[in-house]
Amino acid sequence: VTSKVLNAWPEVGLSSVGNPVSRICFESTSIPGGVTIGKPRQTAEGDYEITVVMEKANLVMAPDHILVADGLVRKFEVLQERPNSIHVTITLEHPVVPEKDESPGTPHLTRFVFPREPLRQVFQGRIIGIDPGHGGKDRGVKGPVNLLEKDVSMSIARELQDLLLGCGAVPVMTRTDDATIGHEERLRTLRNRSAELCVQVHVSGHRDPHWQKYRWFAKKGCGQSVSLGMNIGEALLERMGIRIEGPGALPDAIWDSTPFPVAQIEPLCLTHFVDEANFRAPLFRKRIGQAIYNGIHRWILASRRKAS
Ligand SMILES: [Zn+2]
Repeated sequence: VTSKVLNAWPEVGLSSVGNPVSRICFESTSIPGGVTIGKPRQTAEGDYEITVVMEKANLVMAPDHILVADGLVRKFEVLQERPNSIHVTITLEHPVVPEKDESPGTPHLTRFVFPREPLRQVFQGRIIGIDPGHGGKDRGVKGPVNLLEKDVSMSIARELQDLLLGCGAVPVMTRTDDATIGHEERLRTLRNRSAELCVQVHVSGHRDPHWQKYRWFAKKGCGQSVSLGMNIGEALLERMGIRIEGPGALPDAIWDSTPFPVAQIEPLCLTHFVDEANFRAPLFRKRIGQAIYNGIHRWILASRRKAS
């Protein structure tokens, strides 16, 4: 009997012993025949690829490319290579080999489970500054309905903070509530806590309600800041399809004097009604946080490669 594969999706969760894992899940009518998990091989882009073959199995779902971008799994591709043989090509940011986990039933569930341990190894103990723009009396840009930049920047900052905490990093927030805080005080917090970089979260806006642009800014004359902003920009394009333009000069020159790289990003145009509406969806906010996290992750990997 051949198994019919009905559906495939990615998820992030905890293993049975409570360790963070990424999973690629397949629903089928019965248990697939021989499943072979290949070894990771490095790609020209510096990623890793693994091929999983499922025999005695046919696709009912359409062949598909599925974007994941969860920091470990970048994407996967499901193809009917030939009759009774499905090939799944998985692109990873670290060379990890998944374990297979079967849950018999109707439908049958086959999951490939990737430990997210490599992310913990990258982030463990790293002190990452997050500067949610504006706050208190300083509301920043206002959306056409009622959203305020100070709340949007805080909400994105919190998504990022959660992801960083989840992999052992030490996020340092320059404000944690709706308070009016000046640039000097924000800088002092980051210096006192020995932040090694800072991501400033803002939104763009314009009087013209049809204007819709996204921008980023970097510390003057600082290559590290530029590469930080570029990595976040690439991750936003991959995850959200948002293209941020830059680098511009940081709007507040006091940030040019920091001893660490600084990038300011505007991943949302709050005065545009579509962007304001999108932002109300929790999944959209999570994705922006995930994209910024992915950019920081790739920046750390790139600076590590440079150093070695
Ligand atoms: Zn702002």
